[in-house]
Amino acid sequence: MAEQRCYYQILTVEKTASSDEIKRSYRRLAMKWHPDRNPGDAQAEIEFKSCAEAYEVLGDAEKRRLYDAHGHAGLRGNPHHDFRSMHVEEIFSMFNDIFGGGGSRRSSGGVPRGYDLQTEVEIKLVEVLNGCKREVTFSRAEVCGTCQGDGAKPGSKPITCATCQGHGQVQQTGLGGMFRMVTTCPNCGGGGKVITDKCAACRGNGRVRVNRKIDVTIPAGIQDGQVVRVQAEGEPPRLETSRSGAGVRGDLHVVVHVTNDDRFERQDDDLVMPLAIGYSQAVLGAVVEVVSLDGPVHIKVKAGSQQGDVVRVDERGLPNLRTKRRGGLIAMLMIHVPRKITDRQRQLLEEFAKTEKVDVKSAHEGGFWQKMKELKESFTGN
Ligand SMILES: [Zn+2]
Ligand SMILES: [Zn+2]
Repeated sequence: MAEQRCYYQILTVEKTASSDEIKRSYRRLAMKWHPDRNPGDAQAEIEFKSCAEAYEVLGDAEKRRLYDAHGHAGLRGNPHHDFRSMHVEEIFSMFNDIFGGGGSRRSSGGVPRGYDLQTEVEIKLVEVLNGCKREVTFSRAEVCGTCQGDGAKPGSKPITCATCQGHGQVQQTGLGGMFRMVTTCPNCGGGGKVITDKCAACRGNGRVRVNRKIDVTIPAGIQDGQVVRVQAEGEPPRLETSRSGAGVRGDLHVVVHVTNDDRFERQDDDLVMPLAIGYSQAVLGAVVEVVSLDGPVHIKVKAGSQQGDVVRVDERGLPNLRTKRRGGLIAMLMIHVPRKITDRQRQLLEEFAKTEKVDVKSAHEGGFWQKMKELKESFTGN
């Protein structure tokens, strides 16, 4: 474990600093090390998170007292956040009272949240077996790095909207004063500020579109059409709720399409495949090797097998998304009748035919369509 740094040093304050001084210093450092301002700089992100960790302690009177008295050891057993594994946006939303607003309206539901985004990926059936990773590229709105989202040319500032006096909402009276309606201010669009000198990079929007590429982990057992949700990879909060982007990002929804495999038909976690066998194998029984999604499997064909009979091999299907328990591989027997036979085979069959008495009735009773019906019922039944 790395040596733990002194929290006062991290926040560059004296041990006697007031809580306001600590807060101010944290805000300044968080902005300095914010990953959006230091793109691609891993050290900046580490600093950013260290500051959050330090502030969580020093910004809390009780935790600060414990830390002052016993150092890092004093905090053991005290609930704390694992900032290293947290998203920057989550950290921002945690300390929303420090970063929040920037003059914009606070959303009534607490922390401002951005839009979710959706994208799609295609995977092969065989990839459902163990899960896989996919690189996805998508476009999303980002807080403009030039103006930090306020839309004003650097050096200038947005001014308070004259129409709504910065409230973002206006009251309208209708029907001789019978109704009072509160609507979003048409002049500023609800932000409470107007930009006179627009930022050139975002044309005053405060947001720019950026292509983003991430690796998405697709879990084993996923079904066609299911969605993998990647937290906080969506858009930053909308301008009306947070110009600076403070708050939480929306999520990225990845819709997974599983392409068909000619060899198998998927029935939930089971894989169904046709298995062609010869007449004599059906009569005498046989062990037939087939290729499953993960290597060869031996199928035991019982003596006296009928067309359409199914043989199930447990745990050679696909894993269940939740339990990870594997379904079965189901071979459906198709008795192959050769179009051409040799003279020797003809001779043997003719010999055999003399001994044979075909029972027409049984073919109807236990026939193909009945088997199909039973098979269908067994799938829908579980
Ligand atoms: Zn801008
Ligand atoms: Zn306004």
